[in-house]
Amino acid sequence: MGAPILAGATLGVMGGGQLGRMFAHAAQSMGYFTAVLDPDADSPAGRVSHYHIDDSYENESGLARLAAHCAAVTTEFENVPAASLRALAAMRSGPAPGATSGSAAGLGAAAVPSDLLAVHPSASVVAVAQDRVQEKAHFVACGVPCAPYAVIESAAQLEAVGADLLPGILKTARLGYDGKGQVRVATRAELASAWAALKQQPCVLEKMLALDFECSVIVARGADGSMVHLPVQRNLHRDGILAVTEVFEGNMPPALANTAIAATKKIANDLSYVGVLCVEFFVLQSGGLVVNEMAPRPHNSGHYSLNACDVSQFELQVRTLAGLPLTPPRQHSSAIMLNLLGELWLAADGHSQEPPWAQVLALPGTHLHLYGKTQARVGRKMGHLNVTAATPAQARAVALQAAKLLGFAPF
Ligand code: ADP
Ligand code: MG
Repeated sequence: MGAPILAGATLGVMGGGQLGRMFAHAAQSMGYFTAVLDPDADSPAGRVSHYHIDDSYENESGLARLAAHCAAVTTEFENVPAASLRALAAMRSGPAPGATSGSAAGLGAAAVPSDLLAVHPSASVVAVAQDRVQEKAHFVACGVPCAPYAVIESAAQLEAVGADLLPGILKTARLGYDGKGQVRVATRAELASAWAALKQQPCVLEKMLALDFECSVIVARGADGSMVHLPVQRNLHRDGILAVTEVFEGNMPPALANTAIAATKKIANDLSYVGVLCVEFFVLQSGGLVVNEMAPRPHNSGHYSLNACDVSQFELQVRTLAGLPLTPPRQHSSAIMLNLLGELWLAADGHSQEPPWAQVLALPGTHLHLYGKTQARVGRKMGHLNVTAATPAQARAVALQAAKLLGFAPF
C-alpha cells in the first residue's frame, strides 16, 4: 500500500446528499479539506464542504475541477456514472498538502506532475453494484444464496419465467432505490403489464419471500486487503424505505449474524473492494439467510455508528480512502436509529410543521442529525435520530417515547 494521504490534503466526494455531508464532517474532523461534486447548488454536502463544484456528474470539466482539488475521491451514491469514476481515476490529483492553490496555479504546465487521483471504490466494483443482474451473479459466484430470480431482458425471457417465481417483485436492473423501480406481481398477466409499465427495460423478477426480518452488514476494506466490520444491523423497512435500525447484543441469533458477516467479507474480498460496503440480507421465516443487495458506500442502516461506536462508518470511509489503518470498531452503547422522513414535517392538514425537537432532545441519549434540507416531502430523508443507552431495553423505551412525540408509528 502506498503512503497514506495525510491531513491537509483534500478528499473529494461524488454526490452532495446526506451521506456526502456526513463524510465531509468526518474528513474535516480529521483535518482534511473536502470537495463535493453535485449539480445542486444547495446540496446537503455542498453546504458544509470547503469546495463545491456544481456541475453534472458526466461533465469532463466538472470532473477535472474536482480532481484539481483532490488527492482522492469517493462516492456517496451508487448511481454515480461508473464512466465518470473511470475518467477521474485517469486524472492527476490536486496539489499536495502545504502547496497553496495559488502557487500550484502559478506553476501551471511547468509543475511536476503529481500522482494519479486515488478513486475508491473503483469504477468496476461500482458498476457491479449498479446493476442487479451483475450484482446477483457476483453473489452466486461467492456462494452466497439470494432469492430465486430470473433475468428479464426480452419477451422470450418473460415468457420463460417459471411459475415458482410468482408472486414476485419485478425490479429494474438499474437505478432503483428506496423501493422505487419495483412492482409487486402476483400473476403472469400482472408481470407482463408491469414489465410494459417499466418500458421493457432490463429487470430481474425475484420470488417474494416470507421475511422474518431484515439485516445488513457494513465492512470497510483497505487497499492492503485488511478488513473490519460493524456489528450486524437489524432493519425495519416501511414502504420500501428504511424506518428503524436496531443494533445491540441479542438483536438477532449470533449464528445468523456470523453467517452474514462472513458472507459480506467474502463479497467484498472477491471484488477486491476498497472502501465502505454495505450488504443487505433477508432472514426468512423458514430460518435461512439470503442476500438482497449491496451498496458501495456508507449506508442508512449504519448511521447509529456515529453515536454508538468508537469508529463511525464515515470515519471508516475516510480511513479507507486516505489509506490509513483500520481498527475494529467497538460498539459502546445499545443503539436504535429512527429515520426521519419528510412526512414528520407535514401536519395532518397538509401544512408544514417543525417536529418537537426540544421535547425529543430532553430524552436521555438522543442524538439528532438533520441534513439541512429545506423542502420536506413524503418519503424524503430529512435526518435521523440516534438513541443510545446502556441496555437494549433502555434504548427501546426512549426510542418509543421519541417516536410518539414525533408521530412516528410504533415498531
Ligand atoms: P431498494 O434498492 O429500493 O432498497 P430492495 O431490493 O432492497 O430495493 O427492496 C426494498 C425492500 O423491499 C426490501 O428491503 C424488502 O423489505 C422488500 N423486498 C425486496 N425484495 C423482496 C423479496 N424478494 N421478498 C420479500 N421482500 C422483498
Ligand atoms: Mg435495499
